[in-house]
Amino acid sequence: PLVPIEKIVSLCKRRGFVYPNSEIYGGVAGIYDFGPLGVELRNNIRRFWWWSMVQTHDNVVGIEGATITHPRVWEASGHVENFVDKLVDCKKCKRRFRTDHLDPVNLEQHKCPVCGGELTSEPRVFNLLMETYLGVVEGDRMKTYLRGEACQNIYLDYDNVLKSSRMQIPFGICQIGKAYRNEVTPGNFLFRQREFEQWDLQFFVHPTEMEKWFEYWKEYRFKWYQTILNHKDRLRFHAHGKDELAHYAKQAFDIEYRTILGWQEWEGIHWRQDWDLSRHSQYSGQDLSYVDPLTKEKYIPWIVETSGGVDRTFLNLLLDAYEEEPDPTGKDPRTVLRLHPWLAPVKVAVFPLQKNKEELVSTAKAIHKDLQRYMVSQYDDVAAIGRRYRRQDEIGTPFCVTVDFQTLEDQTVTIRERDGMTQQRIAISELTMYLLERVTW
Ligand code: ATP
Repeated sequence: PLVPIEKIVSLCKRRGFVYPNSEIYGGVAGIYDFGPLGVELRNNIRRFWWWSMVQTHDNVVGIEGATITHPRVWEASGHVENFVDKLVDCKKCKRRFRTDHLDPVNLEQHKCPVCGGELTSEPRVFNLLMETYLGVVEGDRMKTYLRGEACQNIYLDYDNVLKSSRMQIPFGICQIGKAYRNEVTPGNFLFRQREFEQWDLQFFVHPTEMEKWFEYWKEYRFKWYQTILNHKDRLRFHAHGKDELAHYAKQAFDIEYRTILGWQEWEGIHWRQDWDLSRHSQYSGQDLSYVDPLTKEKYIPWIVETSGGVDRTFLNLLLDAYEEEPDPTGKDPRTVLRLHPWLAPVKVAVFPLQKNKEELVSTAKAIHKDLQRYMVSQYDDVAAIGRRYRRQDEIGTPFCVTVDFQTLEDQTVTIRERDGMTQQRIAISELTMYLLERVTW
């Protein structure tokens, strides 16, 4: 069954993954903060992406750009003119709808999909860029924008990277970073926010090699998502139809994932041709063409883009991992997050069987301290062992280690695994290696 978003919202708040931003002031729609477990999960997700996109590709490098840029960037990119949402309102129930999210039939008949009331016929148009001002002196202040998409920095830094990193075409630049949009219909928790994070690859190629690299990255990104999912059958490609394609794009695909919200975009694979570098050449006056060192051919590189969201990954992974299952011992159902061990915020929890036995406690604390050199470990001695397992299951901790009386005799511990709840004994001296092999990619 598909997990209701409310279950995730509630777990996130209760266990410290995600909080509403400025909650004590009543909150701000579409803005969230990440708590102690959320920040660990988020960092793991980011690091896994970075490792597989940048560190294991010899022809890809990374940058981290600022979230404020020269305002002309957003004229060149087309955002000042075209980055708009069109809204229609229901005259009866007062709900607002983005025209591109409405069923075309409802739009044509001006009929509200919720209450059946009449929709306004002329859509209202809103630009999504968030404005900000640089400088302090009135009159000298320059209006600019918080970046509406992170990838623009990659085009802006393209020439510097080329000259400073010894890259040659074909090569790519990656970035993970925040983007800001005045979304008119924020909602569904982390799915549509006003401040969120994107990961982008822009891969620069010779036009004759465009097709080949487009195919490579399309497949690579699909497999990447499959690797970290339990429900791999909920992942699919959506090919953009003629009416959805940008004028320069020969093809484009969304990687979609099915949740309670239906099939929704998770990442876009885009054929950007020479659009971005040509526009920035034109608007900045700097020629961004590439000269092939061997053939001396001069051309504007074409671009394959893969652009996804860190927050959608965070949300989709929780929706994918969450499960309530009957307890085999017949008590309350067990809530378990089947997060991939690579991504789980806590890798291992260490328990003394009893907290009033000094030797058990000191041995468990020593094991915990040692494991902390390599991974996130939690020490817990509160309540019965069963309750401690439950607490860890709910946050996705893949392994729990218990120090008991046998440990004091033979230096072995029990290791209990989250998904199958199986237990085995293992020597303390082998514990670190056993865990490292399972929690690192
Ligand atoms: P949509 O049509 O849903 O508004 P988009 O096509 O404008 O999305 P892109 O501009 O291609 O999205 O952004 C790339 C990725 O960034 C998306 O696939 C998504 O994962 C993420 N993303 C975009 N907008 C948001 C948002 N408001 N909140 C969270 N993530 C977002």
